[in-house]
Amino acid sequence: MNKSLKGLAVLVTGATGGIGTAIVKRLAAEGARPIIHFGRDKVGAESLLASIDGNGWLIQADLSAADGPFALWRKAVAAAGRVHGLVNNAGIRTEISVQASEVDWKAAWQKEFQINFFAAADLSKEAIGHFKANGGGRIVNIASRAGQRGYASDTLPYGATKAALINLSKSIARSFGADGITAVAIAPGWVRTDMAEDFIAIHGKAAAVSDIPTGEMAEPSEIAELVAFVLRPTQVSLNGATLDVNGGSYIR
Ligand code: NAD
Repeated sequence: MNKSLKGLAVLVTGATGGIGTAIVKRLAAEGARPIIHFGRDKVGAESLLASIDGNGWLIQADLSAADGPFALWRKAVAAAGRVHGLVNNAGIRTEISVQASEVDWKAAWQKEFQINFFAAADLSKEAIGHFKANGGGRIVNIASRAGQRGYASDTLPYGATKAALINLSKSIARSFGADGITAVAIAPGWVRTDMAEDFIAIHGKAAAVSDIPTGEMAEPSEIAELVAFVLRPTQVSLNGATLDVNGGSYIR
């Protein structure tokens, strides 16, 4: 495979999940050294590192904790020295009805924003400082079609966090290009991972794929390939875009 990412250290959050695992494998195949972040799945993270011949690092951090993202960045820099890329991939998708209690409603919104958005914002803040001081870098935010077209009645927080992530990507792109820093959002529709399987278990497969013209969920490898492409040093001008990967189910 083309080693277009040779020598780049890239932090991937939520790396033991379905999309994160595919991203790590693809980045490694293209020559990068992934910094594998995990929350709880130490065994999965170790096995992922072994699958790329140990050519990367493992870092645990709870992104639901206020200091979690900052601690993660500190450890990533301590491990790799120079970090060239940040992939904000960790995320949760919580179902909460507007009929939920005030306490449950507030808790669901706060947790969703903490993990899906505030953690990405905190990591981006730290990454921008590091990239500015070291000759640039790239940020890739895994957003969602839900952040573009709006979402379902029982998942209002998820769509809102992803819309915020797309906006953050645009603002970084506009603000720090002169420092050699780019930011791109990737907006998948359904991707075949545990997150999608959880949805299918409740709502059925037809609810996931019936409005997708290509008729199927995306494979994690499709997202991973695109992340690697965005991280290529040759892609100097790919900045501020939201890349839709949704089988034509949302066309702008
Ligand atoms: P997944 O559930 O397989 O992986 C999510 C990852 O996030 C896991 O590794 C998990 O450990 C990590 N994570 C969650 N909470 C954490 C916490 N508190 N601290 C540390 N890590 C935490 O899901 P996935 O489908 O691989 O999702 C990856 C990203 O893609 C998410 O941001 C998701 O919103 C987005 N996405 C997924 C789909 C889909 O259909 N699967 C579609 C669009 C966007």
